[in-house]
Amino acid sequence: MARLYDFEFDRVIAEINERRAKKVLIQLPDGLRPYAFQLAEKIQKINQVNIIFSGDSCYGACDLAIRQAKELNVDLLIHYGHSLMVKTDFPVLYLNAKINIPIIELVEEIIPKLSEWKIISLVTTIQHTHQLKDLANSLNMKGIKTIIGKGNNTTIFDGQILGCNFFVLNDLPEEVDGIVYIGGGNFHPLGLSISTGKPVLIANPYNLKISLLNESDVMLLAKKRMAALTISKNAKKIGILVSSKPGQNSLIIAEEMMDKLTKKGITSFLIYLDEIKAETLNNFSEVDAFLDTACPRIAIDGIMGVEKPIITIQEMRIVLGELKWAEVWGRNYISF
Ligand code: SF4
Repeated sequence: MARLYDFEFDRVIAEINERRAKKVLIQLPDGLRPYAFQLAEKIQKINQVNIIFSGDSCYGACDLAIRQAKELNVDLLIHYGHSLMVKTDFPVLYLNAKINIPIIELVEEIIPKLSEWKIISLVTTIQHTHQLKDLANSLNMKGIKTIIGKGNNTTIFDGQILGCNFFVLNDLPEEVDGIVYIGGGNFHPLGLSISTGKPVLIANPYNLKISLLNESDVMLLAKKRMAALTISKNAKKIGILVSSKPGQNSLIIAEEMMDKLTKKGITSFLIYLDEIKAETLNNFSEVDAFLDTACPRIAIDGIMGVEKPIITIQEMRIVLGELKWAEVWGRNYISF
């Protein structure tokens, strides 16, 4: 088994036993799928439960495989890598897939890169939230005031962020100089930047590299979004994308948006789908633009090969004149 991830094997066995489960569906994000068979074999050495893996996407807890679980008539859905997001009466065991690499070593790397920053907010994904407090204490001892935002019912751990949810930074004090993100890649840092307007330092625990989110990447994104808005403002036909994924389904908002567009003389129809793919969208060749009411990052980060612009719900509010760009860019640009 991968030593990096904590598969919480004991909790899995305890839950299966407690529920007297005979058949379970296991949902793993892509990064954990290489360990799927090892996990199943380990479980079956203790309990001869029938195990089925979900082979469909598992982008987040928004993507909970409840429909599959019901179709397969399993007793329990085991979902790895995310925390509760979708309310359901179906039994689900969430396992965070914590990563236990020693992130405390980052302190010495972070300090010299903070420059003039004296007050920071510390955030990360669910895999490292259990380590944030120790990191914050070490930074505090070095004279850096470190704030960890409180979790809520969608990001349940303090300091936890999702690609579409930066709730823990909602009450960010003005005097915070910047945000330190523990993790790799630009996906979450870009979301942090356009949701808070603060500079973002990326502290990568896997290679101990520390880098400031490049301002030119943020500017490039702003230009792309403005270009999509400009085309969408002149659109006469809009395809409204509605996701069947339980945590991405915004049918009510989609219908509201359709009403508003109709009142403005713009033709729109709902397009209901599970996966948003270029080949699917491009076949709707009559539309001038798409409104994405599913995961907002699909529109913001873009999908290769889509021929028409895709805008988010928040961006549609700008198109409709309900919001101004400056009111949301760097504040709460990402919103369902
Ligand atoms: S960013 Fe998209 S995929 Fe990730 S949790 Fe949010 S809706 Fe789901």
